[in-house]
Amino acid sequence: MMNLDALKAIPIAKVAASLEIRLPSNGRGRCPLPGHEDRNPSFALRFSTNSFRCFSCGRRGSVIDLVMEMEGRDFAGACRWLRERFGRSEPDESRHTDRFVASRASKSNVPAARNVAPASNLSPDPEVYGWLLDKAPLQDNGREYLRFRGFSDATISAFRIGQLGNRTSTLREACRVFGDARLRRCGLVVDGRFGPRLIFPSGYLLFPFLDLECVLYLQGRRADNGLEFRWVCPKDLPPPAYNLDILAGSSASILICEGVTDVLSAAELGKDALGLLGADSRLDPGIIPKLRQRNVIVIGDADKAGERFSRALVNLLGAYGVTAISRPPPSGASDLNAYLKIRRGETT
Ligand SMILES: [Zn+2]
Repeated sequence: MMNLDALKAIPIAKVAASLEIRLPSNGRGRCPLPGHEDRNPSFALRFSTNSFRCFSCGRRGSVIDLVMEMEGRDFAGACRWLRERFGRSEPDESRHTDRFVASRASKSNVPAARNVAPASNLSPDPEVYGWLLDKAPLQDNGREYLRFRGFSDATISAFRIGQLGNRTSTLREACRVFGDARLRRCGLVVDGRFGPRLIFPSGYLLFPFLDLECVLYLQGRRADNGLEFRWVCPKDLPPPAYNLDILAGSSASILICEGVTDVLSAAELGKDALGLLGADSRLDPGIIPKLRQRNVIVIGDADKAGERFSRALVNLLGAYGVTAISRPPPSGASDLNAYLKIRRGETT
């Protein structure tokens, strides 16, 4: 049984990782404590004193206090939480740490080898993506956020939007089913400061890129209005077009827009749309023939990047014999989702 001193000595970086607190390696960043919406980074982990402090909301203390704050537990409950995670497998734990430190040290000696997983080693894995999506049913707060963006339940379920539950336990289960190597190959697992982690944080919405039943790609998004880490994608894998399913249909008119949110907005407005991620994304030549004989309308965002996106795409399609026209978002809106919200405001 660990006594109080032993509990307080558990490295705060490990405890923070277990609590899924995301901070840069210097331990400083926006306050993760519940009830504090920190606009400026005012939170710090103090590795030397094994403590934390927020200069804005004023909360501070030991690893036990951190668990009490994050998990809403009393003192005894926080101690139990720490013992459950760090108490039993101590010998194992420390061996693991040594290995982790060693591998970090060797990596820093060869900086060129870091972060440059050759793209050719990575490939999409629809089976893994589909499994993850099945394990991630939409939660109430995710649905609420999507409704706030103007999306109906019918659209939400047609696009099979999911939401990750607990990142750590989902990763553990995924590793049991598929193994670490396969999860890395499809870009879902990367090495974080505290070891391997799923790229999607807990509670993130998951947007599947479907081709019939097949999940070709997953994009994650925060389920609130926060600006940090808004979108998360599998590392180093170029995204396919979003909503490829519409090309199987006979729709005479197809919109091409920037990203997932605009496609959902178009669907909400009764239009079939294809989404390309990032204003400089390319269009897979394989799908261009499927655009022939249709009216193709490119709607980029109402900004410089959006104009470039539209112009480049119209030219590219033209080179393949597909006539497309470019239009700004209607009614002076900044993008299709903004337009959807204008429309919603008119009708309610
Ligand atoms: Zn704070």
